[in-house]
Amino acid sequence: MSTAPVPPTIPVMLPWLGEEEAQAAAEAVRSGWVAQGPRVAEFERAFAEHLGAPHAVAVSSCTTALHLALIGAGVGPGDEVVVPSLSFIATANAVTYLGAVPVFADVDAETGNLTAGTVEPLLTARTRAVIAVDQGGVPVDLDGIGELVEPRGITVVEDAACGAGSVYRGRPVGADAAIAAYSFHPRKLLTTGEGGMVTCQDGELAARLRRLREHGMSVSAADRHTAGGASLPETYDEIGFNYRMTDIQAAIGLVQLRRLPEMVARRRELAGRYRELLAGTGTGARLVADPAHGTTNYQSCWLLPADGAPERTELLARLAAAGVSARRGIMAAHLEAPYKGTARVPLPATELLTRRSLILPLFHALTEQQQDRVVEALRTALG
Ligand SMILES: *Cc1c(COP(=O)(O)O)cnc(C)c1O
Repeated sequence: MSTAPVPPTIPVMLPWLGEEEAQAAAEAVRSGWVAQGPRVAEFERAFAEHLGAPHAVAVSSCTTALHLALIGAGVGPGDEVVVPSLSFIATANAVTYLGAVPVFADVDAETGNLTAGTVEPLLTARTRAVIAVDQGGVPVDLDGIGELVEPRGITVVEDAACGAGSVYRGRPVGADAAIAAYSFHPRKLLTTGEGGMVTCQDGELAARLRRLREHGMSVSAADRHTAGGASLPETYDEIGFNYRMTDIQAAIGLVQLRRLPEMVARRRELAGRYRELLAGTGTGARLVADPAHGTTNYQSCWLLPADGAPERTELLARLAAAGVSARRGIMAAHLEAPYKGTARVPLPATELLTRRSLILPLFHALTEQQQDRVVEALRTALG
């Protein structure tokens, strides 16, 4: 009696790392400079140039990038910051770190993003900032939200954690934001293991963020090294943090940044193929798509099953049994313990997407054969 071999489970995401990244990390180690140094500075220059943004400040994660960005936006205790509940919880937590209050706005059900229309009812005299997230890589309509809130003196911080490689009105996501924050966690496209970046338009703000990531020191360790070991006296003018990126991470980031266009092209090709294959299943499931104002990098390739499809827990179980590792869709912070009961308005689109949507396997090395297996498993699971 023989049993058919069970093919290995298809993961939902795999970072695309190669020998070049390994080599670059090894070179940083051999150089003896492993903490924040010349490679971090080079990565910042390369990232700013890639975006066409004037300033980029590398940090340890997007969570720390958001924390610094909100300080830069002047957010403090008692202030309100409008955020989408439909986001990784770090978006809301960064607000809470400052003693400010995250105020949850609903999203557009097509894009999963805030709009001027969902933000407007939540603005109060205490609103200091709005965090506009490019959820799953889908560019948010930054101009629409900016036109609503900026005349009221409210800053828009772009949470572009998922957005490297996406395009908004013909320019890289975040390029023209007052302040934007990026993630280099392996769940995103471009990875440094852990890592993040803040970009901004204002040079003085960038200089302040550089100090804040390094304990508020007026002279960085790298500056001191460049000065040839001369003892530059430093001051500590405000309370900062240790939010530095290492040179080992930056070395990997420099290689990954060069690969980014190829990563985006492959993901868009695979997402396009999913769309065609799914249309052929007749299940009525809707796949996330480019919005009118830009293109997504498909960091998350999510799908909303048609009304009447089985519950998501059941769908995920059926997919897992078929060797397909899908995931629940984006979380909603207002349903988690720290923020339960705090939503001021109903969030119907958020609750629909977080309860019903699921994320399909999509990664650079995904093969067409694996994709066919995913779609076949979906057809069976949804049917
Ligand atoms: C991943 C993610 C973060 C957190 O990024 P880290 O680099 O892991 O801190 C924040 N916001 C959004 C929207 C994310 O997807």
